[in-house]
Amino acid sequence: MKIGVLGGGQLARMIALAGVPLGYSFVVLDPSSDACATEAADLIQGAYDDTAALDKLAAVADVITYEFENVPQASARYLATKRPVYPAADVLHVAQDRLNEKTLFTQLGIQTPPYAAVNSLIELQDAVNSIGLPAVLKTRTQGYDGKGQAVIKTQAEMANAWASIGEVPAILEGFIAFDREISMIAVRNTAGEIRYYPVSENQHADGILRVARAKPGDAITPIAQRYTHKLLEHLDYVGVIAVEYFQRGEQLLANEFAPRVHNSGHWTIEGAECSQFENHVRAVANQPLGNTAALGHAAMVNLIGDLPSQAEVMTIADTHPHFYGKAPRPGRKVAHVGIRSQSAQALEATIAQVNKLKGATGA
Ligand code: AMP
Repeated sequence: MKIGVLGGGQLARMIALAGVPLGYSFVVLDPSSDACATEAADLIQGAYDDTAALDKLAAVADVITYEFENVPQASARYLATKRPVYPAADVLHVAQDRLNEKTLFTQLGIQTPPYAAVNSLIELQDAVNSIGLPAVLKTRTQGYDGKGQAVIKTQAEMANAWASIGEVPAILEGFIAFDREISMIAVRNTAGEIRYYPVSENQHADGILRVARAKPGDAITPIAQRYTHKLLEHLDYVGVIAVEYFQRGEQLLANEFAPRVHNSGHWTIEGAECSQFENHVRAVANQPLGNTAALGHAAMVNLIGDLPSQAEVMTIADTHPHFYGKAPRPGRKVAHVGIRSQSAQALEATIAQVNKLKGATGA
């Protein structure tokens, strides 16, 4: 079986690296000739809305998935007339738009930060009046890693915030003084079987994930699973999903979900019996799912914008470098370090060492 992936970045690369040993081959569609997944997959070079390129992909792939959520919905729907596409194009309709996403969370009884739709400066004023400050203004579409967002602390900052996001349809969210951020990575296959990974505890800096730690047995797990379950069932979801939450006391507030394998689940490569990448392949290939249980004490540190040498990583015990084959540029995710240790203490000591490497932030 050949699996087609829309997008040929590091997520597609890690999907292919997990799926090749299972006996599957991979083809990615990407606009760039040096897409980093091509070390493990064939490349069809083309735009995501190029019908000829989509036709080529459908001609060689038995099933199609994606590594990022901003795939044009029309392309996913077009491909679905020719081959199974997982997760379904309808999922993109929700995941690509923060208002649709928050509306669905509310409809399913999943708690969220307070939010309101904003289409003009006047509506922003109304939203600020009802939600209060501080608040975060976010574009409804195309935002990621903190882009397309503006924090508003005082009424005087409103007009600048509206201008800074480009005066496009947006939502205003109450700014949550959370205790921590977590994500729940889960997987559902075509038969409806579901598995949940242990919760990931995520540290961000400048809106970008820096460190994720596996937290097996965490007290918040039942709520995170219950919420994620509602979403998976409602969407008749197939593949890996990542749902990001803010935790405040005992309360979980859903921020967003990614309809794909996720950076906060990279620790599963070394830290779980079956990684998120292998389970995504199993799910879209219509196979039984693998065991999501944690192994040891696991974490992942992102290397962003700059790279140490492989040797500098490898001299630190319990670490596994994952270099994506991408040239370093400011703000670009170029590698991550997977860590699995024998104890929580050893894990923290290793994270501290890895955090001193180039590209880590010391978060
Ligand atoms: P997002 O693109 O929505 O994932 O936002 C990026 C990061 O900004 C999140 O991981 C949080 O650290 C922060 N953030 C986003 N929305 C809020 C909010 N409503 N309250 C507090 N922090 C937020």
